[in-house]
Amino acid sequence: MRITGIRHLRVPLEGNVSNAMVSFADHDVSLVAVASDVVRDGRRVTGIAFNSIGRYAQPGLIDERFAPRLLAAPAESLLDGSGSRFDPAAIGALLMRNEKPGGHGDRAGAVAALELAIWDLNAKLEGVPAADLIAREFGRAATRPGVPVYAAGGYYRDEYGTSALTEELAGYRDAGYGVFKIKIGGALLADDLRRIEAALTVTRDPSQLAVDANGRFDLDTALSYGKELEPYSLAWYEEPGDPLDYDLNRAVAEIYSGPIATGENLFSRRDATNLVRHGGMRPGLDVFQMDAGISYGLTEYAGMIADLESAGHSRTQARPHGGHLINLHIVHGLELGGCEAYPGVFQPFGGYSPGVEVVDGRIAPTAAPGFGLEEKPELRPLISRLLG
Ligand code: MG
Repeated sequence: MRITGIRHLRVPLEGNVSNAMVSFADHDVSLVAVASDVVRDGRRVTGIAFNSIGRYAQPGLIDERFAPRLLAAPAESLLDGSGSRFDPAAIGALLMRNEKPGGHGDRAGAVAALELAIWDLNAKLEGVPAADLIAREFGRAATRPGVPVYAAGGYYRDEYGTSALTEELAGYRDAGYGVFKIKIGGALLADDLRRIEAALTVTRDPSQLAVDANGRFDLDTALSYGKELEPYSLAWYEEPGDPLDYDLNRAVAEIYSGPIATGENLFSRRDATNLVRHGGMRPGLDVFQMDAGISYGLTEYAGMIADLESAGHSRTQARPHGGHLINLHIVHGLELGGCEAYPGVFQPFGGYSPGVEVVDGRIAPTAAPGFGLEEKPELRPLISRLLG
């Protein structure tokens, strides 16, 4: 068994929205296909995946560096001991050959897209959902009837008043979501508090509303916001400061009694370890949002979860950034705390396929093999284009 080809498609993200730090208007995503020589129903069994939402595609890194490295490797070096499956950990290590440690950057997303495609490929070779394969690989039962999901939205838009915000959240509520997240930090504190008050007219229960500053604040501002936010007892206060400023995170955690969420901009196991060591994250309370799609893939991500548990945290504190099908399978398979969803934004990748219904605030993957990306109508034409 061997890999016969790798294809890459740069896909623009739809939507003209912003958070406190970035506009997503010119963002794009790397959609990749890793084809095997196994043929079923007249087609090569092919793994499909993408890196995550909210950054950029990496056509140069994938096409010129990582795909050639994978294609040049001896076929047997890419297989596990059984010879009937590809070995994601071995492939991840091979992709990182001659790469210096540290300074992870965009290569972590490029490697992730390829590594995740290997998981999709393995699941398709077995004809099982990726969540089942992931659960088995990492010794989890994954028998729960779905995982908790929250709707992330409330972005800053042009002329975006509170009535548009409440309308947006009411739409999510009507679609079955019970927990929401909105952006803060892109306006003055008083205006953000008005947005929170408006959001609470929809959710009513503040523990069902999270706020996300996207790393915008310096320490003083983070603490000022924390002081105003604390009385609400919100679901969590996300990324108050720069994601690599662990001392700021620790200082906020010392005075803010509610949950703090962070981690979506950490691209390696080592970065996550440093957050655990120095960021003041509190076992049983705070939320870890590392995302396999921008941090070298599932093998690396599962290592982060193991490290969290070794440090006394629970895997249910992990709620990966990135509301899409790949992370739904990962959350389900690894029995993590929950999943994000972007029901209104970030097409064609955001949100789920029609078979994935929100029931009592929970969602479960369908029985489609792999990550089931082919079931998402917005992705189907792109996958067809990718496969040619
Ligand atoms: Mg965030």
